Amino acid sequence: MVNGQRLINSFIKMTSINSVSGQEHEFRDYLRQEFARRGFRAEEDEAGTATRGTSGNLLLKIPGTKDLPPLLFAAHMDTVEPGRNIKAIIENNEVIKSSGDTILGADDKAAIAALLESVDIIKENQLEYPPLEILLTVSEEQGLLGARNFDFSQLRSRFGYALDGGGEPGTVIIKSPCQNEIEYIAYGKAAHAGIDPENGLNAVKLAAVALAQMPSGRIDEETTCNFGVIQGGQARNIVPDHCVVRGEARSLSREKLDGLTRKLQDHFIKSVTEGGGQGEVKVSFLYPQVSLKKDDEVVKLAAAAIESIGLPLRLMATGGGSDASIINAHIPCANLGIGMQDVHTTREHILIKDLIDDVRLILAIIAEYCRL
Ligand SMILES: [Zn+2]
Repeated sequence: MVNGQRLINSFIKMTSINSVSGQEHEFRDYLRQEFARRGFRAEEDEAGTATRGTSGNLLLKIPGTKDLPPLLFAAHMDTVEPGRNIKAIIENNEVIKSSGDTILGADDKAAIAALLESVDIIKENQLEYPPLEILLTVSEEQGLLGARNFDFSQLRSRFGYALDGGGEPGTVIIKSPCQNEIEYIAYGKAAHAGIDPENGLNAVKLAAVALAQMPSGRIDEETTCNFGVIQGGQARNIVPDHCVVRGEARSLSREKLDGLTRKLQDHFIKSVTEGGGQGEVKVSFLYPQVSLKKDDEVVKLAAAAIESIGLPLRLMATGGGSDASIINAHIPCANLGIGMQDVHTTREHILIKDLIDDVRLILAIIAEYCRL
């Protein structure tokens, strides 16, 4: 039923349209036009203002042929860098990859192309389907910013699927971590490094001494922690009066996340204070953990759909967040593997087979849902 060539063309066209995070307007216009051609209106929200981007999120409400509550599908419109002027290449009629100097953008345009193809197939074959809600977010790659600024009271779906997971189609991500963004600041005292160092207090060193004693990397099987950016000082010849360290912590357990964050915070402040300076730690909670169970309706339905099209079912945990992390705070939402590989690198690629299976899976989920 899937029109492979149309799907490939549509996917490659989508990858050619620039939509790096915060600058999704061109892609938004393209999608609105494509859906409009099919008679559907994609409503844009105000998230672009909140995220200081050029586009808001798009929400489509497609009336169904079945009198059921709507079913949600979500994907994100933005891509990471290097993601401009992407030229997709088909290799051996088997795999689609970038020309090598950019990402491909299968993350997450494979999902959007598959959704569009699914809508076409439903119409062409006059399949029965429930009302559909399709949420296409912006700035997912910037910390789920679009989803975080979306007004979920607009949704009527009881549950849904994010199409934004690694792993082949058939993969259902049932666990993902909660995350804190943590900023550590050490304050010292500026002085001339050559003439008057006795009067200074080196904030970079205060931070370094503290960090050296703090846990990082993998903490346990559910928990990780990282220090990603260090900034401090003004010039080589000035004793630096401040140093900022930006890091994060994640865990599948909220309790462990809170415990680790407290430990990091206390250690940093204590160490910097002992060194004679002042410490400050700012914590912001980015998103909650997802913890779905095998017998949750959203998982059971995906499993039945996967089985119905003969794909192996894989229930997985991941260390990353996705829009599903935000959606789950409102309605159950499983993130599905869509076959994108080596994402966020210039080696990103997707098998044509997986792209086609994405469409088959969406259609199978819709068919299973109609049986509820
Ligand atoms: Zn993604």
